[in-house]
Parts: sequence; structure tokens; C-alpha cells
Amino acid sequence: MAEKGNRSGGGRSHRVDCCSFCGRKRNEADILFQGLEPGVNICGRCIEAGYKTLFDNDLLASKSNSTKGFDCDMTKVPKPVDIKRHLDEYVIGQDAAKRAIAVAVYNHYKRLASKGQMSDVEIDKSNILLVGPTGTGKTLIARTIAQLLNVPFTIVDATVLTEAGYVGEDVEGILTRLLQVADYDVAAAERGIVFIDEIDKIARKGDNPSITRDVSGEGVQQALLKILEGTVVNVAPQGGRKHPDQKFVQVNTSNILFICGGAFDGVEKRIAQRLNTRAMGYGRVNTENVDRDNLMKYIMPQDVRSFGLIPELVGRLPVLTYLEPLSREALRRILTDPKNAIVRQYEALLAMDGVSLHFDDETLEYIVDKAVEFRLGARGLRSICEAVMTELMFEAPSSDNKELYVGRDYAEARINRTPLVEFKEAV
Ligand code: ADP
Repeated sequence: MAEKGNRSGGGRSHRVDCCSFCGRKRNEADILFQGLEPGVNICGRCIEAGYKTLFDNDLLASKSNSTKGFDCDMTKVPKPVDIKRHLDEYVIGQDAAKRAIAVAVYNHYKRLASKGQMSDVEIDKSNILLVGPTGTGKTLIARTIAQLLNVPFTIVDATVLTEAGYVGEDVEGILTRLLQVADYDVAAAERGIVFIDEIDKIARKGDNPSITRDVSGEGVQQALLKILEGTVVNVAPQGGRKHPDQKFVQVNTSNILFICGGAFDGVEKRIAQRLNTRAMGYGRVNTENVDRDNLMKYIMPQDVRSFGLIPELVGRLPVLTYLEPLSREALRRILTDPKNAIVRQYEALLAMDGVSLHFDDETLEYIVDKAVEFRLGARGLRSICEAVMTELMFEAPSSDNKELYVGRDYAEARINRTPLVEFKEAV
């Protein structure tokens, strides 16, 4: 606390009224903090200088002792049921994926907690592969898990990755991003979660090893393999290519959880083939009970391999699960049910202007119909809502009308005025 000050004259009072470090007097210092003992003070400038020294030498407690890191106290790790319940608040449907991920994440942290304990059993890493059409919630699930666990989280697009030395981003760049979101706290980054999107786009092209270099396919898979299985990587904290002179930071990837996602378009054909062959040959399955409309639920590692992921990589993604296409009913729920549902967001925004907003049920049904008709999926819901709401959001804050109802006719008129291509571009 700033000292109120003893301004009387004399030797003792003079000592009391100056900084014990630099000797600056009260009237010269912007602020003077008093210590426990009388006469022990420090001024603002000396605090600043001390802070700078700690910062430059990487000695700040908040930097060196990972505060973001998840301390592997198992009593604090949410149980699979709790993880699933949390996911339910944000992600509609996708029960199979949510359950598989809840178990995988729980086991991942058990594995961390078991490290350093005497045990004959070494638990393998539970990296996850999510297969399902685009816009069905793969990224959303990964992001929601990271928020729950309060660990650094980053999303990378596999399509921009290339082998080291080629145009594009090196695989190590993934760790640069993780370090950046962890504020360069290496310990925190080493327990983070990385979501690699569009992993299916780096599938090997064709079954035969190509004579020409496949820099964005198998080569990248090989490079990813190393960081997925756990290794110490020299990471350029600012990103490798732009700053060649920087010092490398070593990041151990063995406790980073990797979640990969991809649509694997056309993989159903391979699943169907497999199921048909099995129906005749060894290891028969009863094909009569097969749900032909949703073959994705039978996905197995061999289907992903035959799609073009190398067996070693598939082996490093032991938790394989699928997401279903979103039904009309799921789209309707996505509009209103999740904690941060689109409709709730508009309500909250206008509530800040003292306006209460109401959507008629018919309007919401109409918005969903349009998303289905335009084949825009869940991402389209937002662009359709934007088309309906923009004018209203413009006028409402200055209007005296504090109770707004969005009716179907209004929504229809707004949507009819928006060219379809605008919706498609927004998705
Ligand atoms: P992808 O499967 O391509 O990774 P995303 O998770 O990025 O899809 O989904 C895009 C957006 O669509 C999300 O931000 C969310 O608003 C919405 N969404 C998609 N699926 C769901 C779902 N199952 N539950 C709630 N919202 C969803």
C-alpha cells in the first residue's frame, strides 16, 4: 500500500520518507510502498526495474511454473460421464463420438498421472480420429474438451502442411502455434491439445508408391507420425522460416493429445465392400441388420488405411469414432439448445440494448428448412440467421420498441433478398 507519509523533518523521518533502494525521496517518486519495518520503502521505478530483471531472466512465477498446465491430480480430472455431460451442453447429438472422446481424454490424463509411479503397465497414448461429414461438430468437440480441461488448444489444417523444405508449413509449425497459445509456457504446451483438421486430405494418392515426390501426402504423414507418437522436437518459437536466427525451444510431444478429424468422403463404399466380403467369407457378419443408411458407424481402422492413411499413422490414432450427418431435428436444436446457441447469442446482444428478442417457432423451423434446402448444414444456420437479423440489429438499438418478435414472414422476406451465393460463401 502507498505510504501516507511522515513529512516531519529530522534524520529518522528523512530515512522513512525515501526509497531504500535508490534513495529517491517521496516528493521525487511517483509512489512509495512501505515495507513491514518502518523506514523500509520501495518506489515505483525500482519495482518496475525488478520486474524487468525477472522477466528478462525468465524468472517470473507465472511464466516458469506452468499455471495453465493441467496438474495431473486425478481427483480434479472430470470423469467420463462429467466430460460427456459438459459436451452435451455445447454439442447436439453425436453420442457415440462424445462417449468415445470422454473415455479417451480421461484415459489420457490417467496415463499422465500414472507417469512416475511404479507400474508394470505402460498406458498407451489415446490420440483420436474423428470421421464424419464436414460441419457436424468435430472441431466443436475438440474445442469444448480443451476449454473444459483448461489446456492450450490449437487447430491446424492438414492441407497446408508439407514436408520440411517444401512450400507450405512444416509439421513442426503445429508446435509453434501451440507454444504461442500457451504464451510460450513450454510445460503448458506439452499438455495441450492439437486438433488436426482435414487429415483425409493428406491421404496417399493411389495404392502404388509414386515415382514423383508426394510432398503433401505420405511425406507429411511420416512427419506427423513422429510428433504423434511422442518425441522431443526443436521448435522455432516465432515460426521457422521468417525468423531464421531465433533460439529453438525443445518441446516433448509425448503428452500432447492429438485429435484428428476428416470427412473421408467415399469411405462408406469401402465399408460396404468390407461388410459384403465378410458376409460371405471368414468372420461373417449378419448383413441383414446392417444400417445401410449410416455405414459410417461401422468404420474400422482398415477402412481408413484403404482410404490412404499409412498403417503406422492409423496405429497412432487408436481411438476411432464417427460423427453422424446432422438430421433436420438436430439442426433445429442447434439453433436454440447449446449454451452458446446462435439464437441465444442474438438475444444476449440485444439484451445489452434493453431489447428483448423473440423468435417465433415457425421462424426457427423456416430457418432450418432453408439450411436443409440450400444444403448448408450447421454452418449455414449462422449465415441464414445473419441475413434475417442484420437489418434488425442495425435499427433495434436506436428504436423505442423494446420488445421484438421475429416472425416467419419477416425472415422469409429478408432471406429472399439475399442471393444464395452469399450463404454458400459464408459457409
Ligand atoms: P467440423 O465437423 O467440420 O469440424 P465444426 O465443429 O467446425 O464442424 O462445426 C461448424 C459449426 O457448426 C460449429 O461451430 C457449430 O456452430 C455448428 N455445429 C456443427 N455441429 C454441431 C453439433 N453437433 N452441435 C452443435 N453445433 C454444431
